[in-house]
Amino acid sequence: MPKNRVWTLLAVFSVVLALLVTGGCGKPAVERAEPSGLTIQVIDVGQGDAILIRTPGQQVTLIDTGDVPARNKLVAYIKKQGVIAIDNLIITHPHADHLGGAQAILENFPVKHVYDNGQTTTTALYRQYLTLIQKKQIPFEVVKVGGQLDLGGGAILTFYGPPSPPLAGAETNLNNASIVGRLSFGKFSMLLPGDAELEEERWIVKRYGGELQSQVLKSGHHGSRTSSSLGFLKAVRPEAAIASLGAGNDYHHPHPSTIRRYEDYKIKFFRTDTDGTVTITSDGETYTITKEK
Ligand SMILES: [Zn+2]
Repeated sequence: MPKNRVWTLLAVFSVVLALLVTGGCGKPAVERAEPSGLTIQVIDVGQGDAILIRTPGQQVTLIDTGDVPARNKLVAYIKKQGVIAIDNLIITHPHADHLGGAQAILENFPVKHVYDNGQTTTTALYRQYLTLIQKKQIPFEVVKVGGQLDLGGGAILTFYGPPSPPLAGAETNLNNASIVGRLSFGKFSMLLPGDAELEEERWIVKRYGGELQSQVLKSGHHGSRTSSSLGFLKAVRPEAAIASLGAGNDYHHPHPSTIRRYEDYKIKFFRTDTDGTVTITSDGETYTITKEK
């Protein structure tokens, strides 16, 4: 047999073997192989939150979905990352700047599980979200404080909120019923507090203060002055904080007093309005943060 033909046969054999092997491991949620570490992207969706987490096991978790105007951009961005399915969709609380893109996500990706804080609202957005979950028969769970979610590849999300029983006034200020998750992966950790404000931060610090320490903090409530309170920062002791927000937003996020608190505690500050999408990668030992702009 000519040498070229032997190589061709060997190549065909390798492809068949690779197909057989990957076929036996279940379909990964990512189209192409990712680096062996953890990748977290605080996606620039303007005013709102959308955080994409990919683990070494190629499982994909999305925390919040940005607001309605950014939904197409969000879907396109996630597709561009090679993501073809979402294992866990987590909605921290049902405000439009977190829930707005949920319908587009559910329509564009197979979503395997949905988790939220159990709070119901009367908005059309919320009704559409619930209807779609029911129509698609997606397993749905309400997050319980103290519980954990295995994100695969050694990444674990531990829940410190929403408070149970709910805080007084949480039915009018939905922010204080936000899901708060601490992502741990080896020696790396990141705290993801949704829009939790002072009252929820206090509740969490009082009960779980000793467990909150994290290298990276997603700024609560887009860097608002009602979050990142001193007691909370002292418990979390982050080295870096990332606020997700829109340029020139009506809420004056991030607040100068929050930025000053970060400066006082030598916390490096990133913001999606000027930095674009902020990406954190970790091998479980160290981590790096990169900015799109
Ligand atoms: Zn928000």
